[in-house]
Amino acid sequence: MPLLQVENRILRLIANGVSLEETARQLCLEIEALLPDVVCTLMTVDPAGLLHPLATPSLPDAYALAIDGVMIGPEVGSCGTAAYMRKTVGIADIAADPRWARYKDHALVAGLKACWSYPIISESGDPIGVLALYFREHRGPREAEMGVISTALDLCGMALRRHERVVDRERRANVDVLTGLPNRAAFNAALECMPCDEPGIWALFMIDLDNLKIVNDTFGHLAGDRLIQVAAARIARAVAPDVTFRIGGDEFAVLVQAPALLSDLDAAARRIFRGLELAAPCEGHMVVPQATIGGAVFGPSESTAAAVSEAADFALYHAKETGRGGFVRYWPGIGTRITHRRDAIRDVAAALGDGRIEAHYQPIVGLDTGEIVGLEALCRMRGRDGTLIAAHEFHEATADAHIAAELTEHMAAMIAGDMVRWRDQGLRVGHVGLNVSSADFYTGSISKKLERAFGPVGVPLDQLVVEVSEDVYIGRRDGVVAREIERLRATGVRVALDDFGTGHASLTHVLNVPVDIIKIDRSFVERLWPDDPSIVIVEGLIKIARRLEIMVIAEGIETEVQASQLWSMGCMLGQGFAFARATDRDATAALLRRHAAGIAGVTPLYAGRKGMLREPDAAAPARRRTAAG
Ligand code: C2E
Ligand code: CA
Ligand code: CA
Repeated sequence: MPLLQVENRILRLIANGVSLEETARQLCLEIEALLPDVVCTLMTVDPAGLLHPLATPSLPDAYALAIDGVMIGPEVGSCGTAAYMRKTVGIADIAADPRWARYKDHALVAGLKACWSYPIISESGDPIGVLALYFREHRGPREAEMGVISTALDLCGMALRRHERVVDRERRANVDVLTGLPNRAAFNAALECMPCDEPGIWALFMIDLDNLKIVNDTFGHLAGDRLIQVAAARIARAVAPDVTFRIGGDEFAVLVQAPALLSDLDAAARRIFRGLELAAPCEGHMVVPQATIGGAVFGPSESTAAAVSEAADFALYHAKETGRGGFVRYWPGIGTRITHRRDAIRDVAAALGDGRIEAHYQPIVGLDTGEIVGLEALCRMRGRDGTLIAAHEFHEATADAHIAAELTEHMAAMIAGDMVRWRDQGLRVGHVGLNVSSADFYTGSISKKLERAFGPVGVPLDQLVVEVSEDVYIGRRDGVVAREIERLRATGVRVALDDFGTGHASLTHVLNVPVDIIKIDRSFVERLWPDDPSIVIVEGLIKIARRLEIMVIAEGIETEVQASQLWSMGCMLGQGFAFARATDRDATAALLRRHAAGIAGVTPLYAGRKGMLREPDAAAPARRRTAAG
């Protein structure tokens, strides 16, 4: 009974503590003796997912060398694929199978035409080895050979486990103790071994946990550790069988190889976000793990593993700086954007320090009367040379938490001062809008800030509008923005949904987090041509908003025609260059004196020729009646 003898011989080697390499070599030779014309190999898979030949007695040395350090993946010959899929992979025609495309030459030169690979899985479910049988014909194992193979697999498992100490030492060096995930060293090793021949074949996600620091600081390090463990397990599950690494305190990396994930990285990132989104118990506290993801694909411009890694880092950095909780995919201009943003932050910080940030005001007018019913405060930066710089040139800086907090406080104080002055001059201002950014919602309570600025000077909060842009309003899943909006409205402050139509907000969102005002973005207003779908959208929005008792303000009205057209569609309020650009406190006072609604004898406000609104005005109601049937 030769098989039994073989088994005993190998068991004896294992029991006597013969080295793993030697045991594996003997095993392969014995199997080859039992199954003539078969070449047998055994490889290990390290924690990073790299293949290492353990015993390849009948393979040419060059072949064994070529396999060493190859990352397992969905198309990595028979062995790499079997380890990646965690199941047997049989390939009867190495020359023709796409999974062998990158490796076939070595096998074919050695006269090997088919290969059956069997993964050896650890108790924790990770691949630790692969037993492979190569055939010199286009065939798989025969029925009669199955007994030998299954015995061989048992022996391989035993041999690998018996040498757990050796394997363990390797694991300890490469595995993160807290999460059991491969660590930074393993990541570096894996990255070095990624295939660099075919663009688009793999991608890298860098994932940063957003709330670890807060959890550590408020609930203690045990809770923080638990959060890391939960997040690690969930990320790993979301991307399996692709490998997740823990590469830093709160940083993870995923080497993305699965075709389904590669084909749509946004969807892949969403899969991770969805995997994370349930609250998890962390030492008695329920915590929702939150993450930000940057990604980059191996491709023509990022053509080395190091370049991909750097690109993914850039993307993560950009994602963190411009709004945590999202996914940013690397694009070639991202470096310039980051630099530009950094410059903007530096400039605004300096301007705040020197008192060179000013509040300017753009009037909001009644489209029927042309009278000013309110203002929007827009910040301006005074250059050191005295030039005035508009917010769109530096508003990227407001994504920075410190800048946002300081800017909002500064603007609130200036607006409060100006409102008091106008009031003392007997001017009627209506409401004044203040813009806030996403970061404002994460740096203390906006409503408290407003109370502090406006309470002491006696400006009632119902004269204030906080403008929240659409992407901020719906971009976050954590409820922080929604709760703050509720708080603001409870204090009497009105909330405007800014830039409506630029993102993905729909009216359903408006129902979920109620607002008082919707500001239709300029991109709609500038397209109000006959037959443009904008018209239908804006008309529909106006109708629905009216039913929900939400005020609508059209932004960026540049011509009298647009103004009258909007009015005929039922929009009552607007702002834009057709009426006035933003101006400083004193110029605004002069405008209010002449054009503020509710004062006897005021005239309508137009930037251009007086009375320009009159004609379309007269026609408008008629058109509206026609439209209504
Ligand atoms: P926004 O809130 O949508 O503000 C409207 C922008 O459109 C302003 O640019 C305004 O000058 C411009 N605008 C107004 N009417 C017209 C028009 O008829 N045609 C055109 N082409 N543009 C018009 P600005 O002041 O450069 O502000 C840009 C963005 O910066 C603002 O967009 C807002 O998101 C942000 N921002 C402005 N001030 C502040 C602030 O105090 N705090 C924060 N966090 N963000 C601010
Ligand atoms: Ca605004
Ligand atoms: Ca806007």
